[in-house]
Amino acid sequence: MNIPTVLALPYPAQGHVNPLMTLSQKLIEHGCKVLFVNTDFIHRRVLSSMVEHQDGHDHESLLKLVSIPDGVGPDDDRNDLGKLDETILRTMPATLEKFIEDVHGKGDDRISLIVADVCMAWALDVASKLGIKGAVLSTRSASFFGLMCNIPVLIDDGIIDSNYGLTLTTKKTLRISPSMLEMDTRDFFWLKMGDKINHVKVMDYLLHCIRRLHLTDWWLCNTIDELEPVTLSFIPKILLIGPLLRSDDDTSEATKSMGQFWEKDLSCMSWLNQQPHRSVLYAAFGSFTLFDQNQFNELALGLDFTNRHFLWVVRQDNKMAYPNEFLGSKGKIVDWAPQQKVLSHPSIACFVTHCGWNSIMKGLSNGVPLLCWPYFGDQLHNKTHICDELKVGLGLESDENGLVSRKELKNKVDQLLDDENIISRSLELKEKLRNNLAKGGRAIVPPKIDKLHLAFQPDKLSLGV
Ligand code: UDP
Repeated sequence: MNIPTVLALPYPAQGHVNPLMTLSQKLIEHGCKVLFVNTDFIHRRVLSSMVEHQDGHDHESLLKLVSIPDGVGPDDDRNDLGKLDETILRTMPATLEKFIEDVHGKGDDRISLIVADVCMAWALDVASKLGIKGAVLSTRSASFFGLMCNIPVLIDDGIIDSNYGLTLTTKKTLRISPSMLEMDTRDFFWLKMGDKINHVKVMDYLLHCIRRLHLTDWWLCNTIDELEPVTLSFIPKILLIGPLLRSDDDTSEATKSMGQFWEKDLSCMSWLNQQPHRSVLYAAFGSFTLFDQNQFNELALGLDFTNRHFLWVVRQDNKMAYPNEFLGSKGKIVDWAPQQKVLSHPSIACFVTHCGWNSIMKGLSNGVPLLCWPYFGDQLHNKTHICDELKVGLGLESDENGLVSRKELKNKVDQLLDDENIISRSLELKEKLRNNLAKGGRAIVPPKIDKLHLAFQPDKLSLGV
C-alpha cells in the first residue's frame, strides 16, 4: 500500500516545533508518513536532548527527523529574530526546494502534502511550484492569527504605519471582530518585542508569510471554538484542530520527547508523587523568557514567601545566582520539565506561566488555573484572554520598579487558590478541551467569508465582515 508522505516544516523555536510534532504524530496515527524538517541547528539540539532513538526515527520510520540549513552564519546570533527571519527568507525557499527534489530523486518518498507553520508560509510557494498540496498550522491562538491576517488591512487603512507603528489617528483600543474583546493597541505584539529585537524586520517577514496564505485552503489552528467562539466568524478558512496534546498513554516516553530542545528532567514526577493533592505551584516560563537578576531574586523569594510547595523550571540559559535568603525548602527546581505530564499531575494547584499559547493550552486542558506573567509578543494578548474573557486566571502586575514583587506573587497565589469560581470554570473548560480530544475530534466547518473590511464606529474601531 502506498503511504502518503507529509513534509512538516516548523519555525525554528520550541513553541512552534512542539505542536507541529504532535500534529505529525496524529498524522501518523491516521496512516501517513512524516518527514519532519527542522533547521540543522534545531535538529542537532533535538537529537542531543533525546534519550533514545538517537537516529531521529520512530514509529518504525514513519516519522523521520531530517534537516536543512537556515542560512545563518557561524558567528551570527539566532536570538536576533529580525536577522534570523531575513536570512530564512533569503535562503530557505531554495534549500527546501532542492531538498524535496532530492527526496523525490531517490524515489522512496514522494511528498503529497507540506504542512508549514504559518510563520514559514513562504513554503507554500515552494509547494505550488513543485505541484504539492500545502497547509499551514497556526501554533498561536486564533484571535492572534486573526490579528496577523489583518495586518495588511491595518496598514492600508492607516491604523499603523509602514513601520508598524501606531499613527496619530490610531485609537487606544481596537476590535478585530465586533464580538471580540477590545485590544489595547499599545499591546500589539510587535510593539512588545523588547529593544533587542528589530520588530520591523520580524513584521516584514510575517507579512510576507501572511501574503502567501491564499495559496492554501487549509489553515489549521491549535485551538477550539469554546475557547475562542467568535473567531470562526472572522478568519476565512480556519480549521480548529486543538488541543494539540500528546496523549500520556498511547506513545512511548521517547516518542513524547521528540522535538524537545532540552532534556526533560523526569525526577520531578516522583517528587510530585509525594506532594498532597492540589498543593503545588508549577512555575515555568517557556523557552524564550529571560529574567534579569533582580526579577529572578524576587521570583525565588516570592516562591518561598508563598509557603507552598513549588516546582520551578529554571532553564540553563537563564540560570542566575540564587539570592542568599532563598531557602527553596518546599520546592524542586529543574532545567526543563515534562510539562504536559506535570500539568496533569493531581498535586498541581496552579500554573505560574508566561502565557505562551502552548503552555496555556496544556494548562487549560488539565483544568489548572493560571497565574499570568506575560513576557513579550502575543503573551500580553493571551493574558487578557485568560483573565478577562475566559476568567480562568489572574494577572501578576509589576510594581513601580517594573518588577513583579514577592508580595504580589504571594497575594495573587492566595487569591487564585481561594477563588472557587475560577477553579470551577477551569474544570469546566478542561472538560470542553478533553471532549475535543475524543477520537477523531469534532469537524468544524468554517463559514465562507470573501472579504474583511474595516468599519469605523463612533468611538472605537472594529474589523468586521
Ligand atoms: N515546555 C516543556 N517543558 C518546560 C517548559 C516548557 O516541555 O519545562 C514546553 C511547553 O509545554 C510548550 C513549549 O515548551 O510546548 C513552550 O511553548 P509556549 O508556546 O508555551 O512558549 P514559548 O516557548 O514559545 O515562549
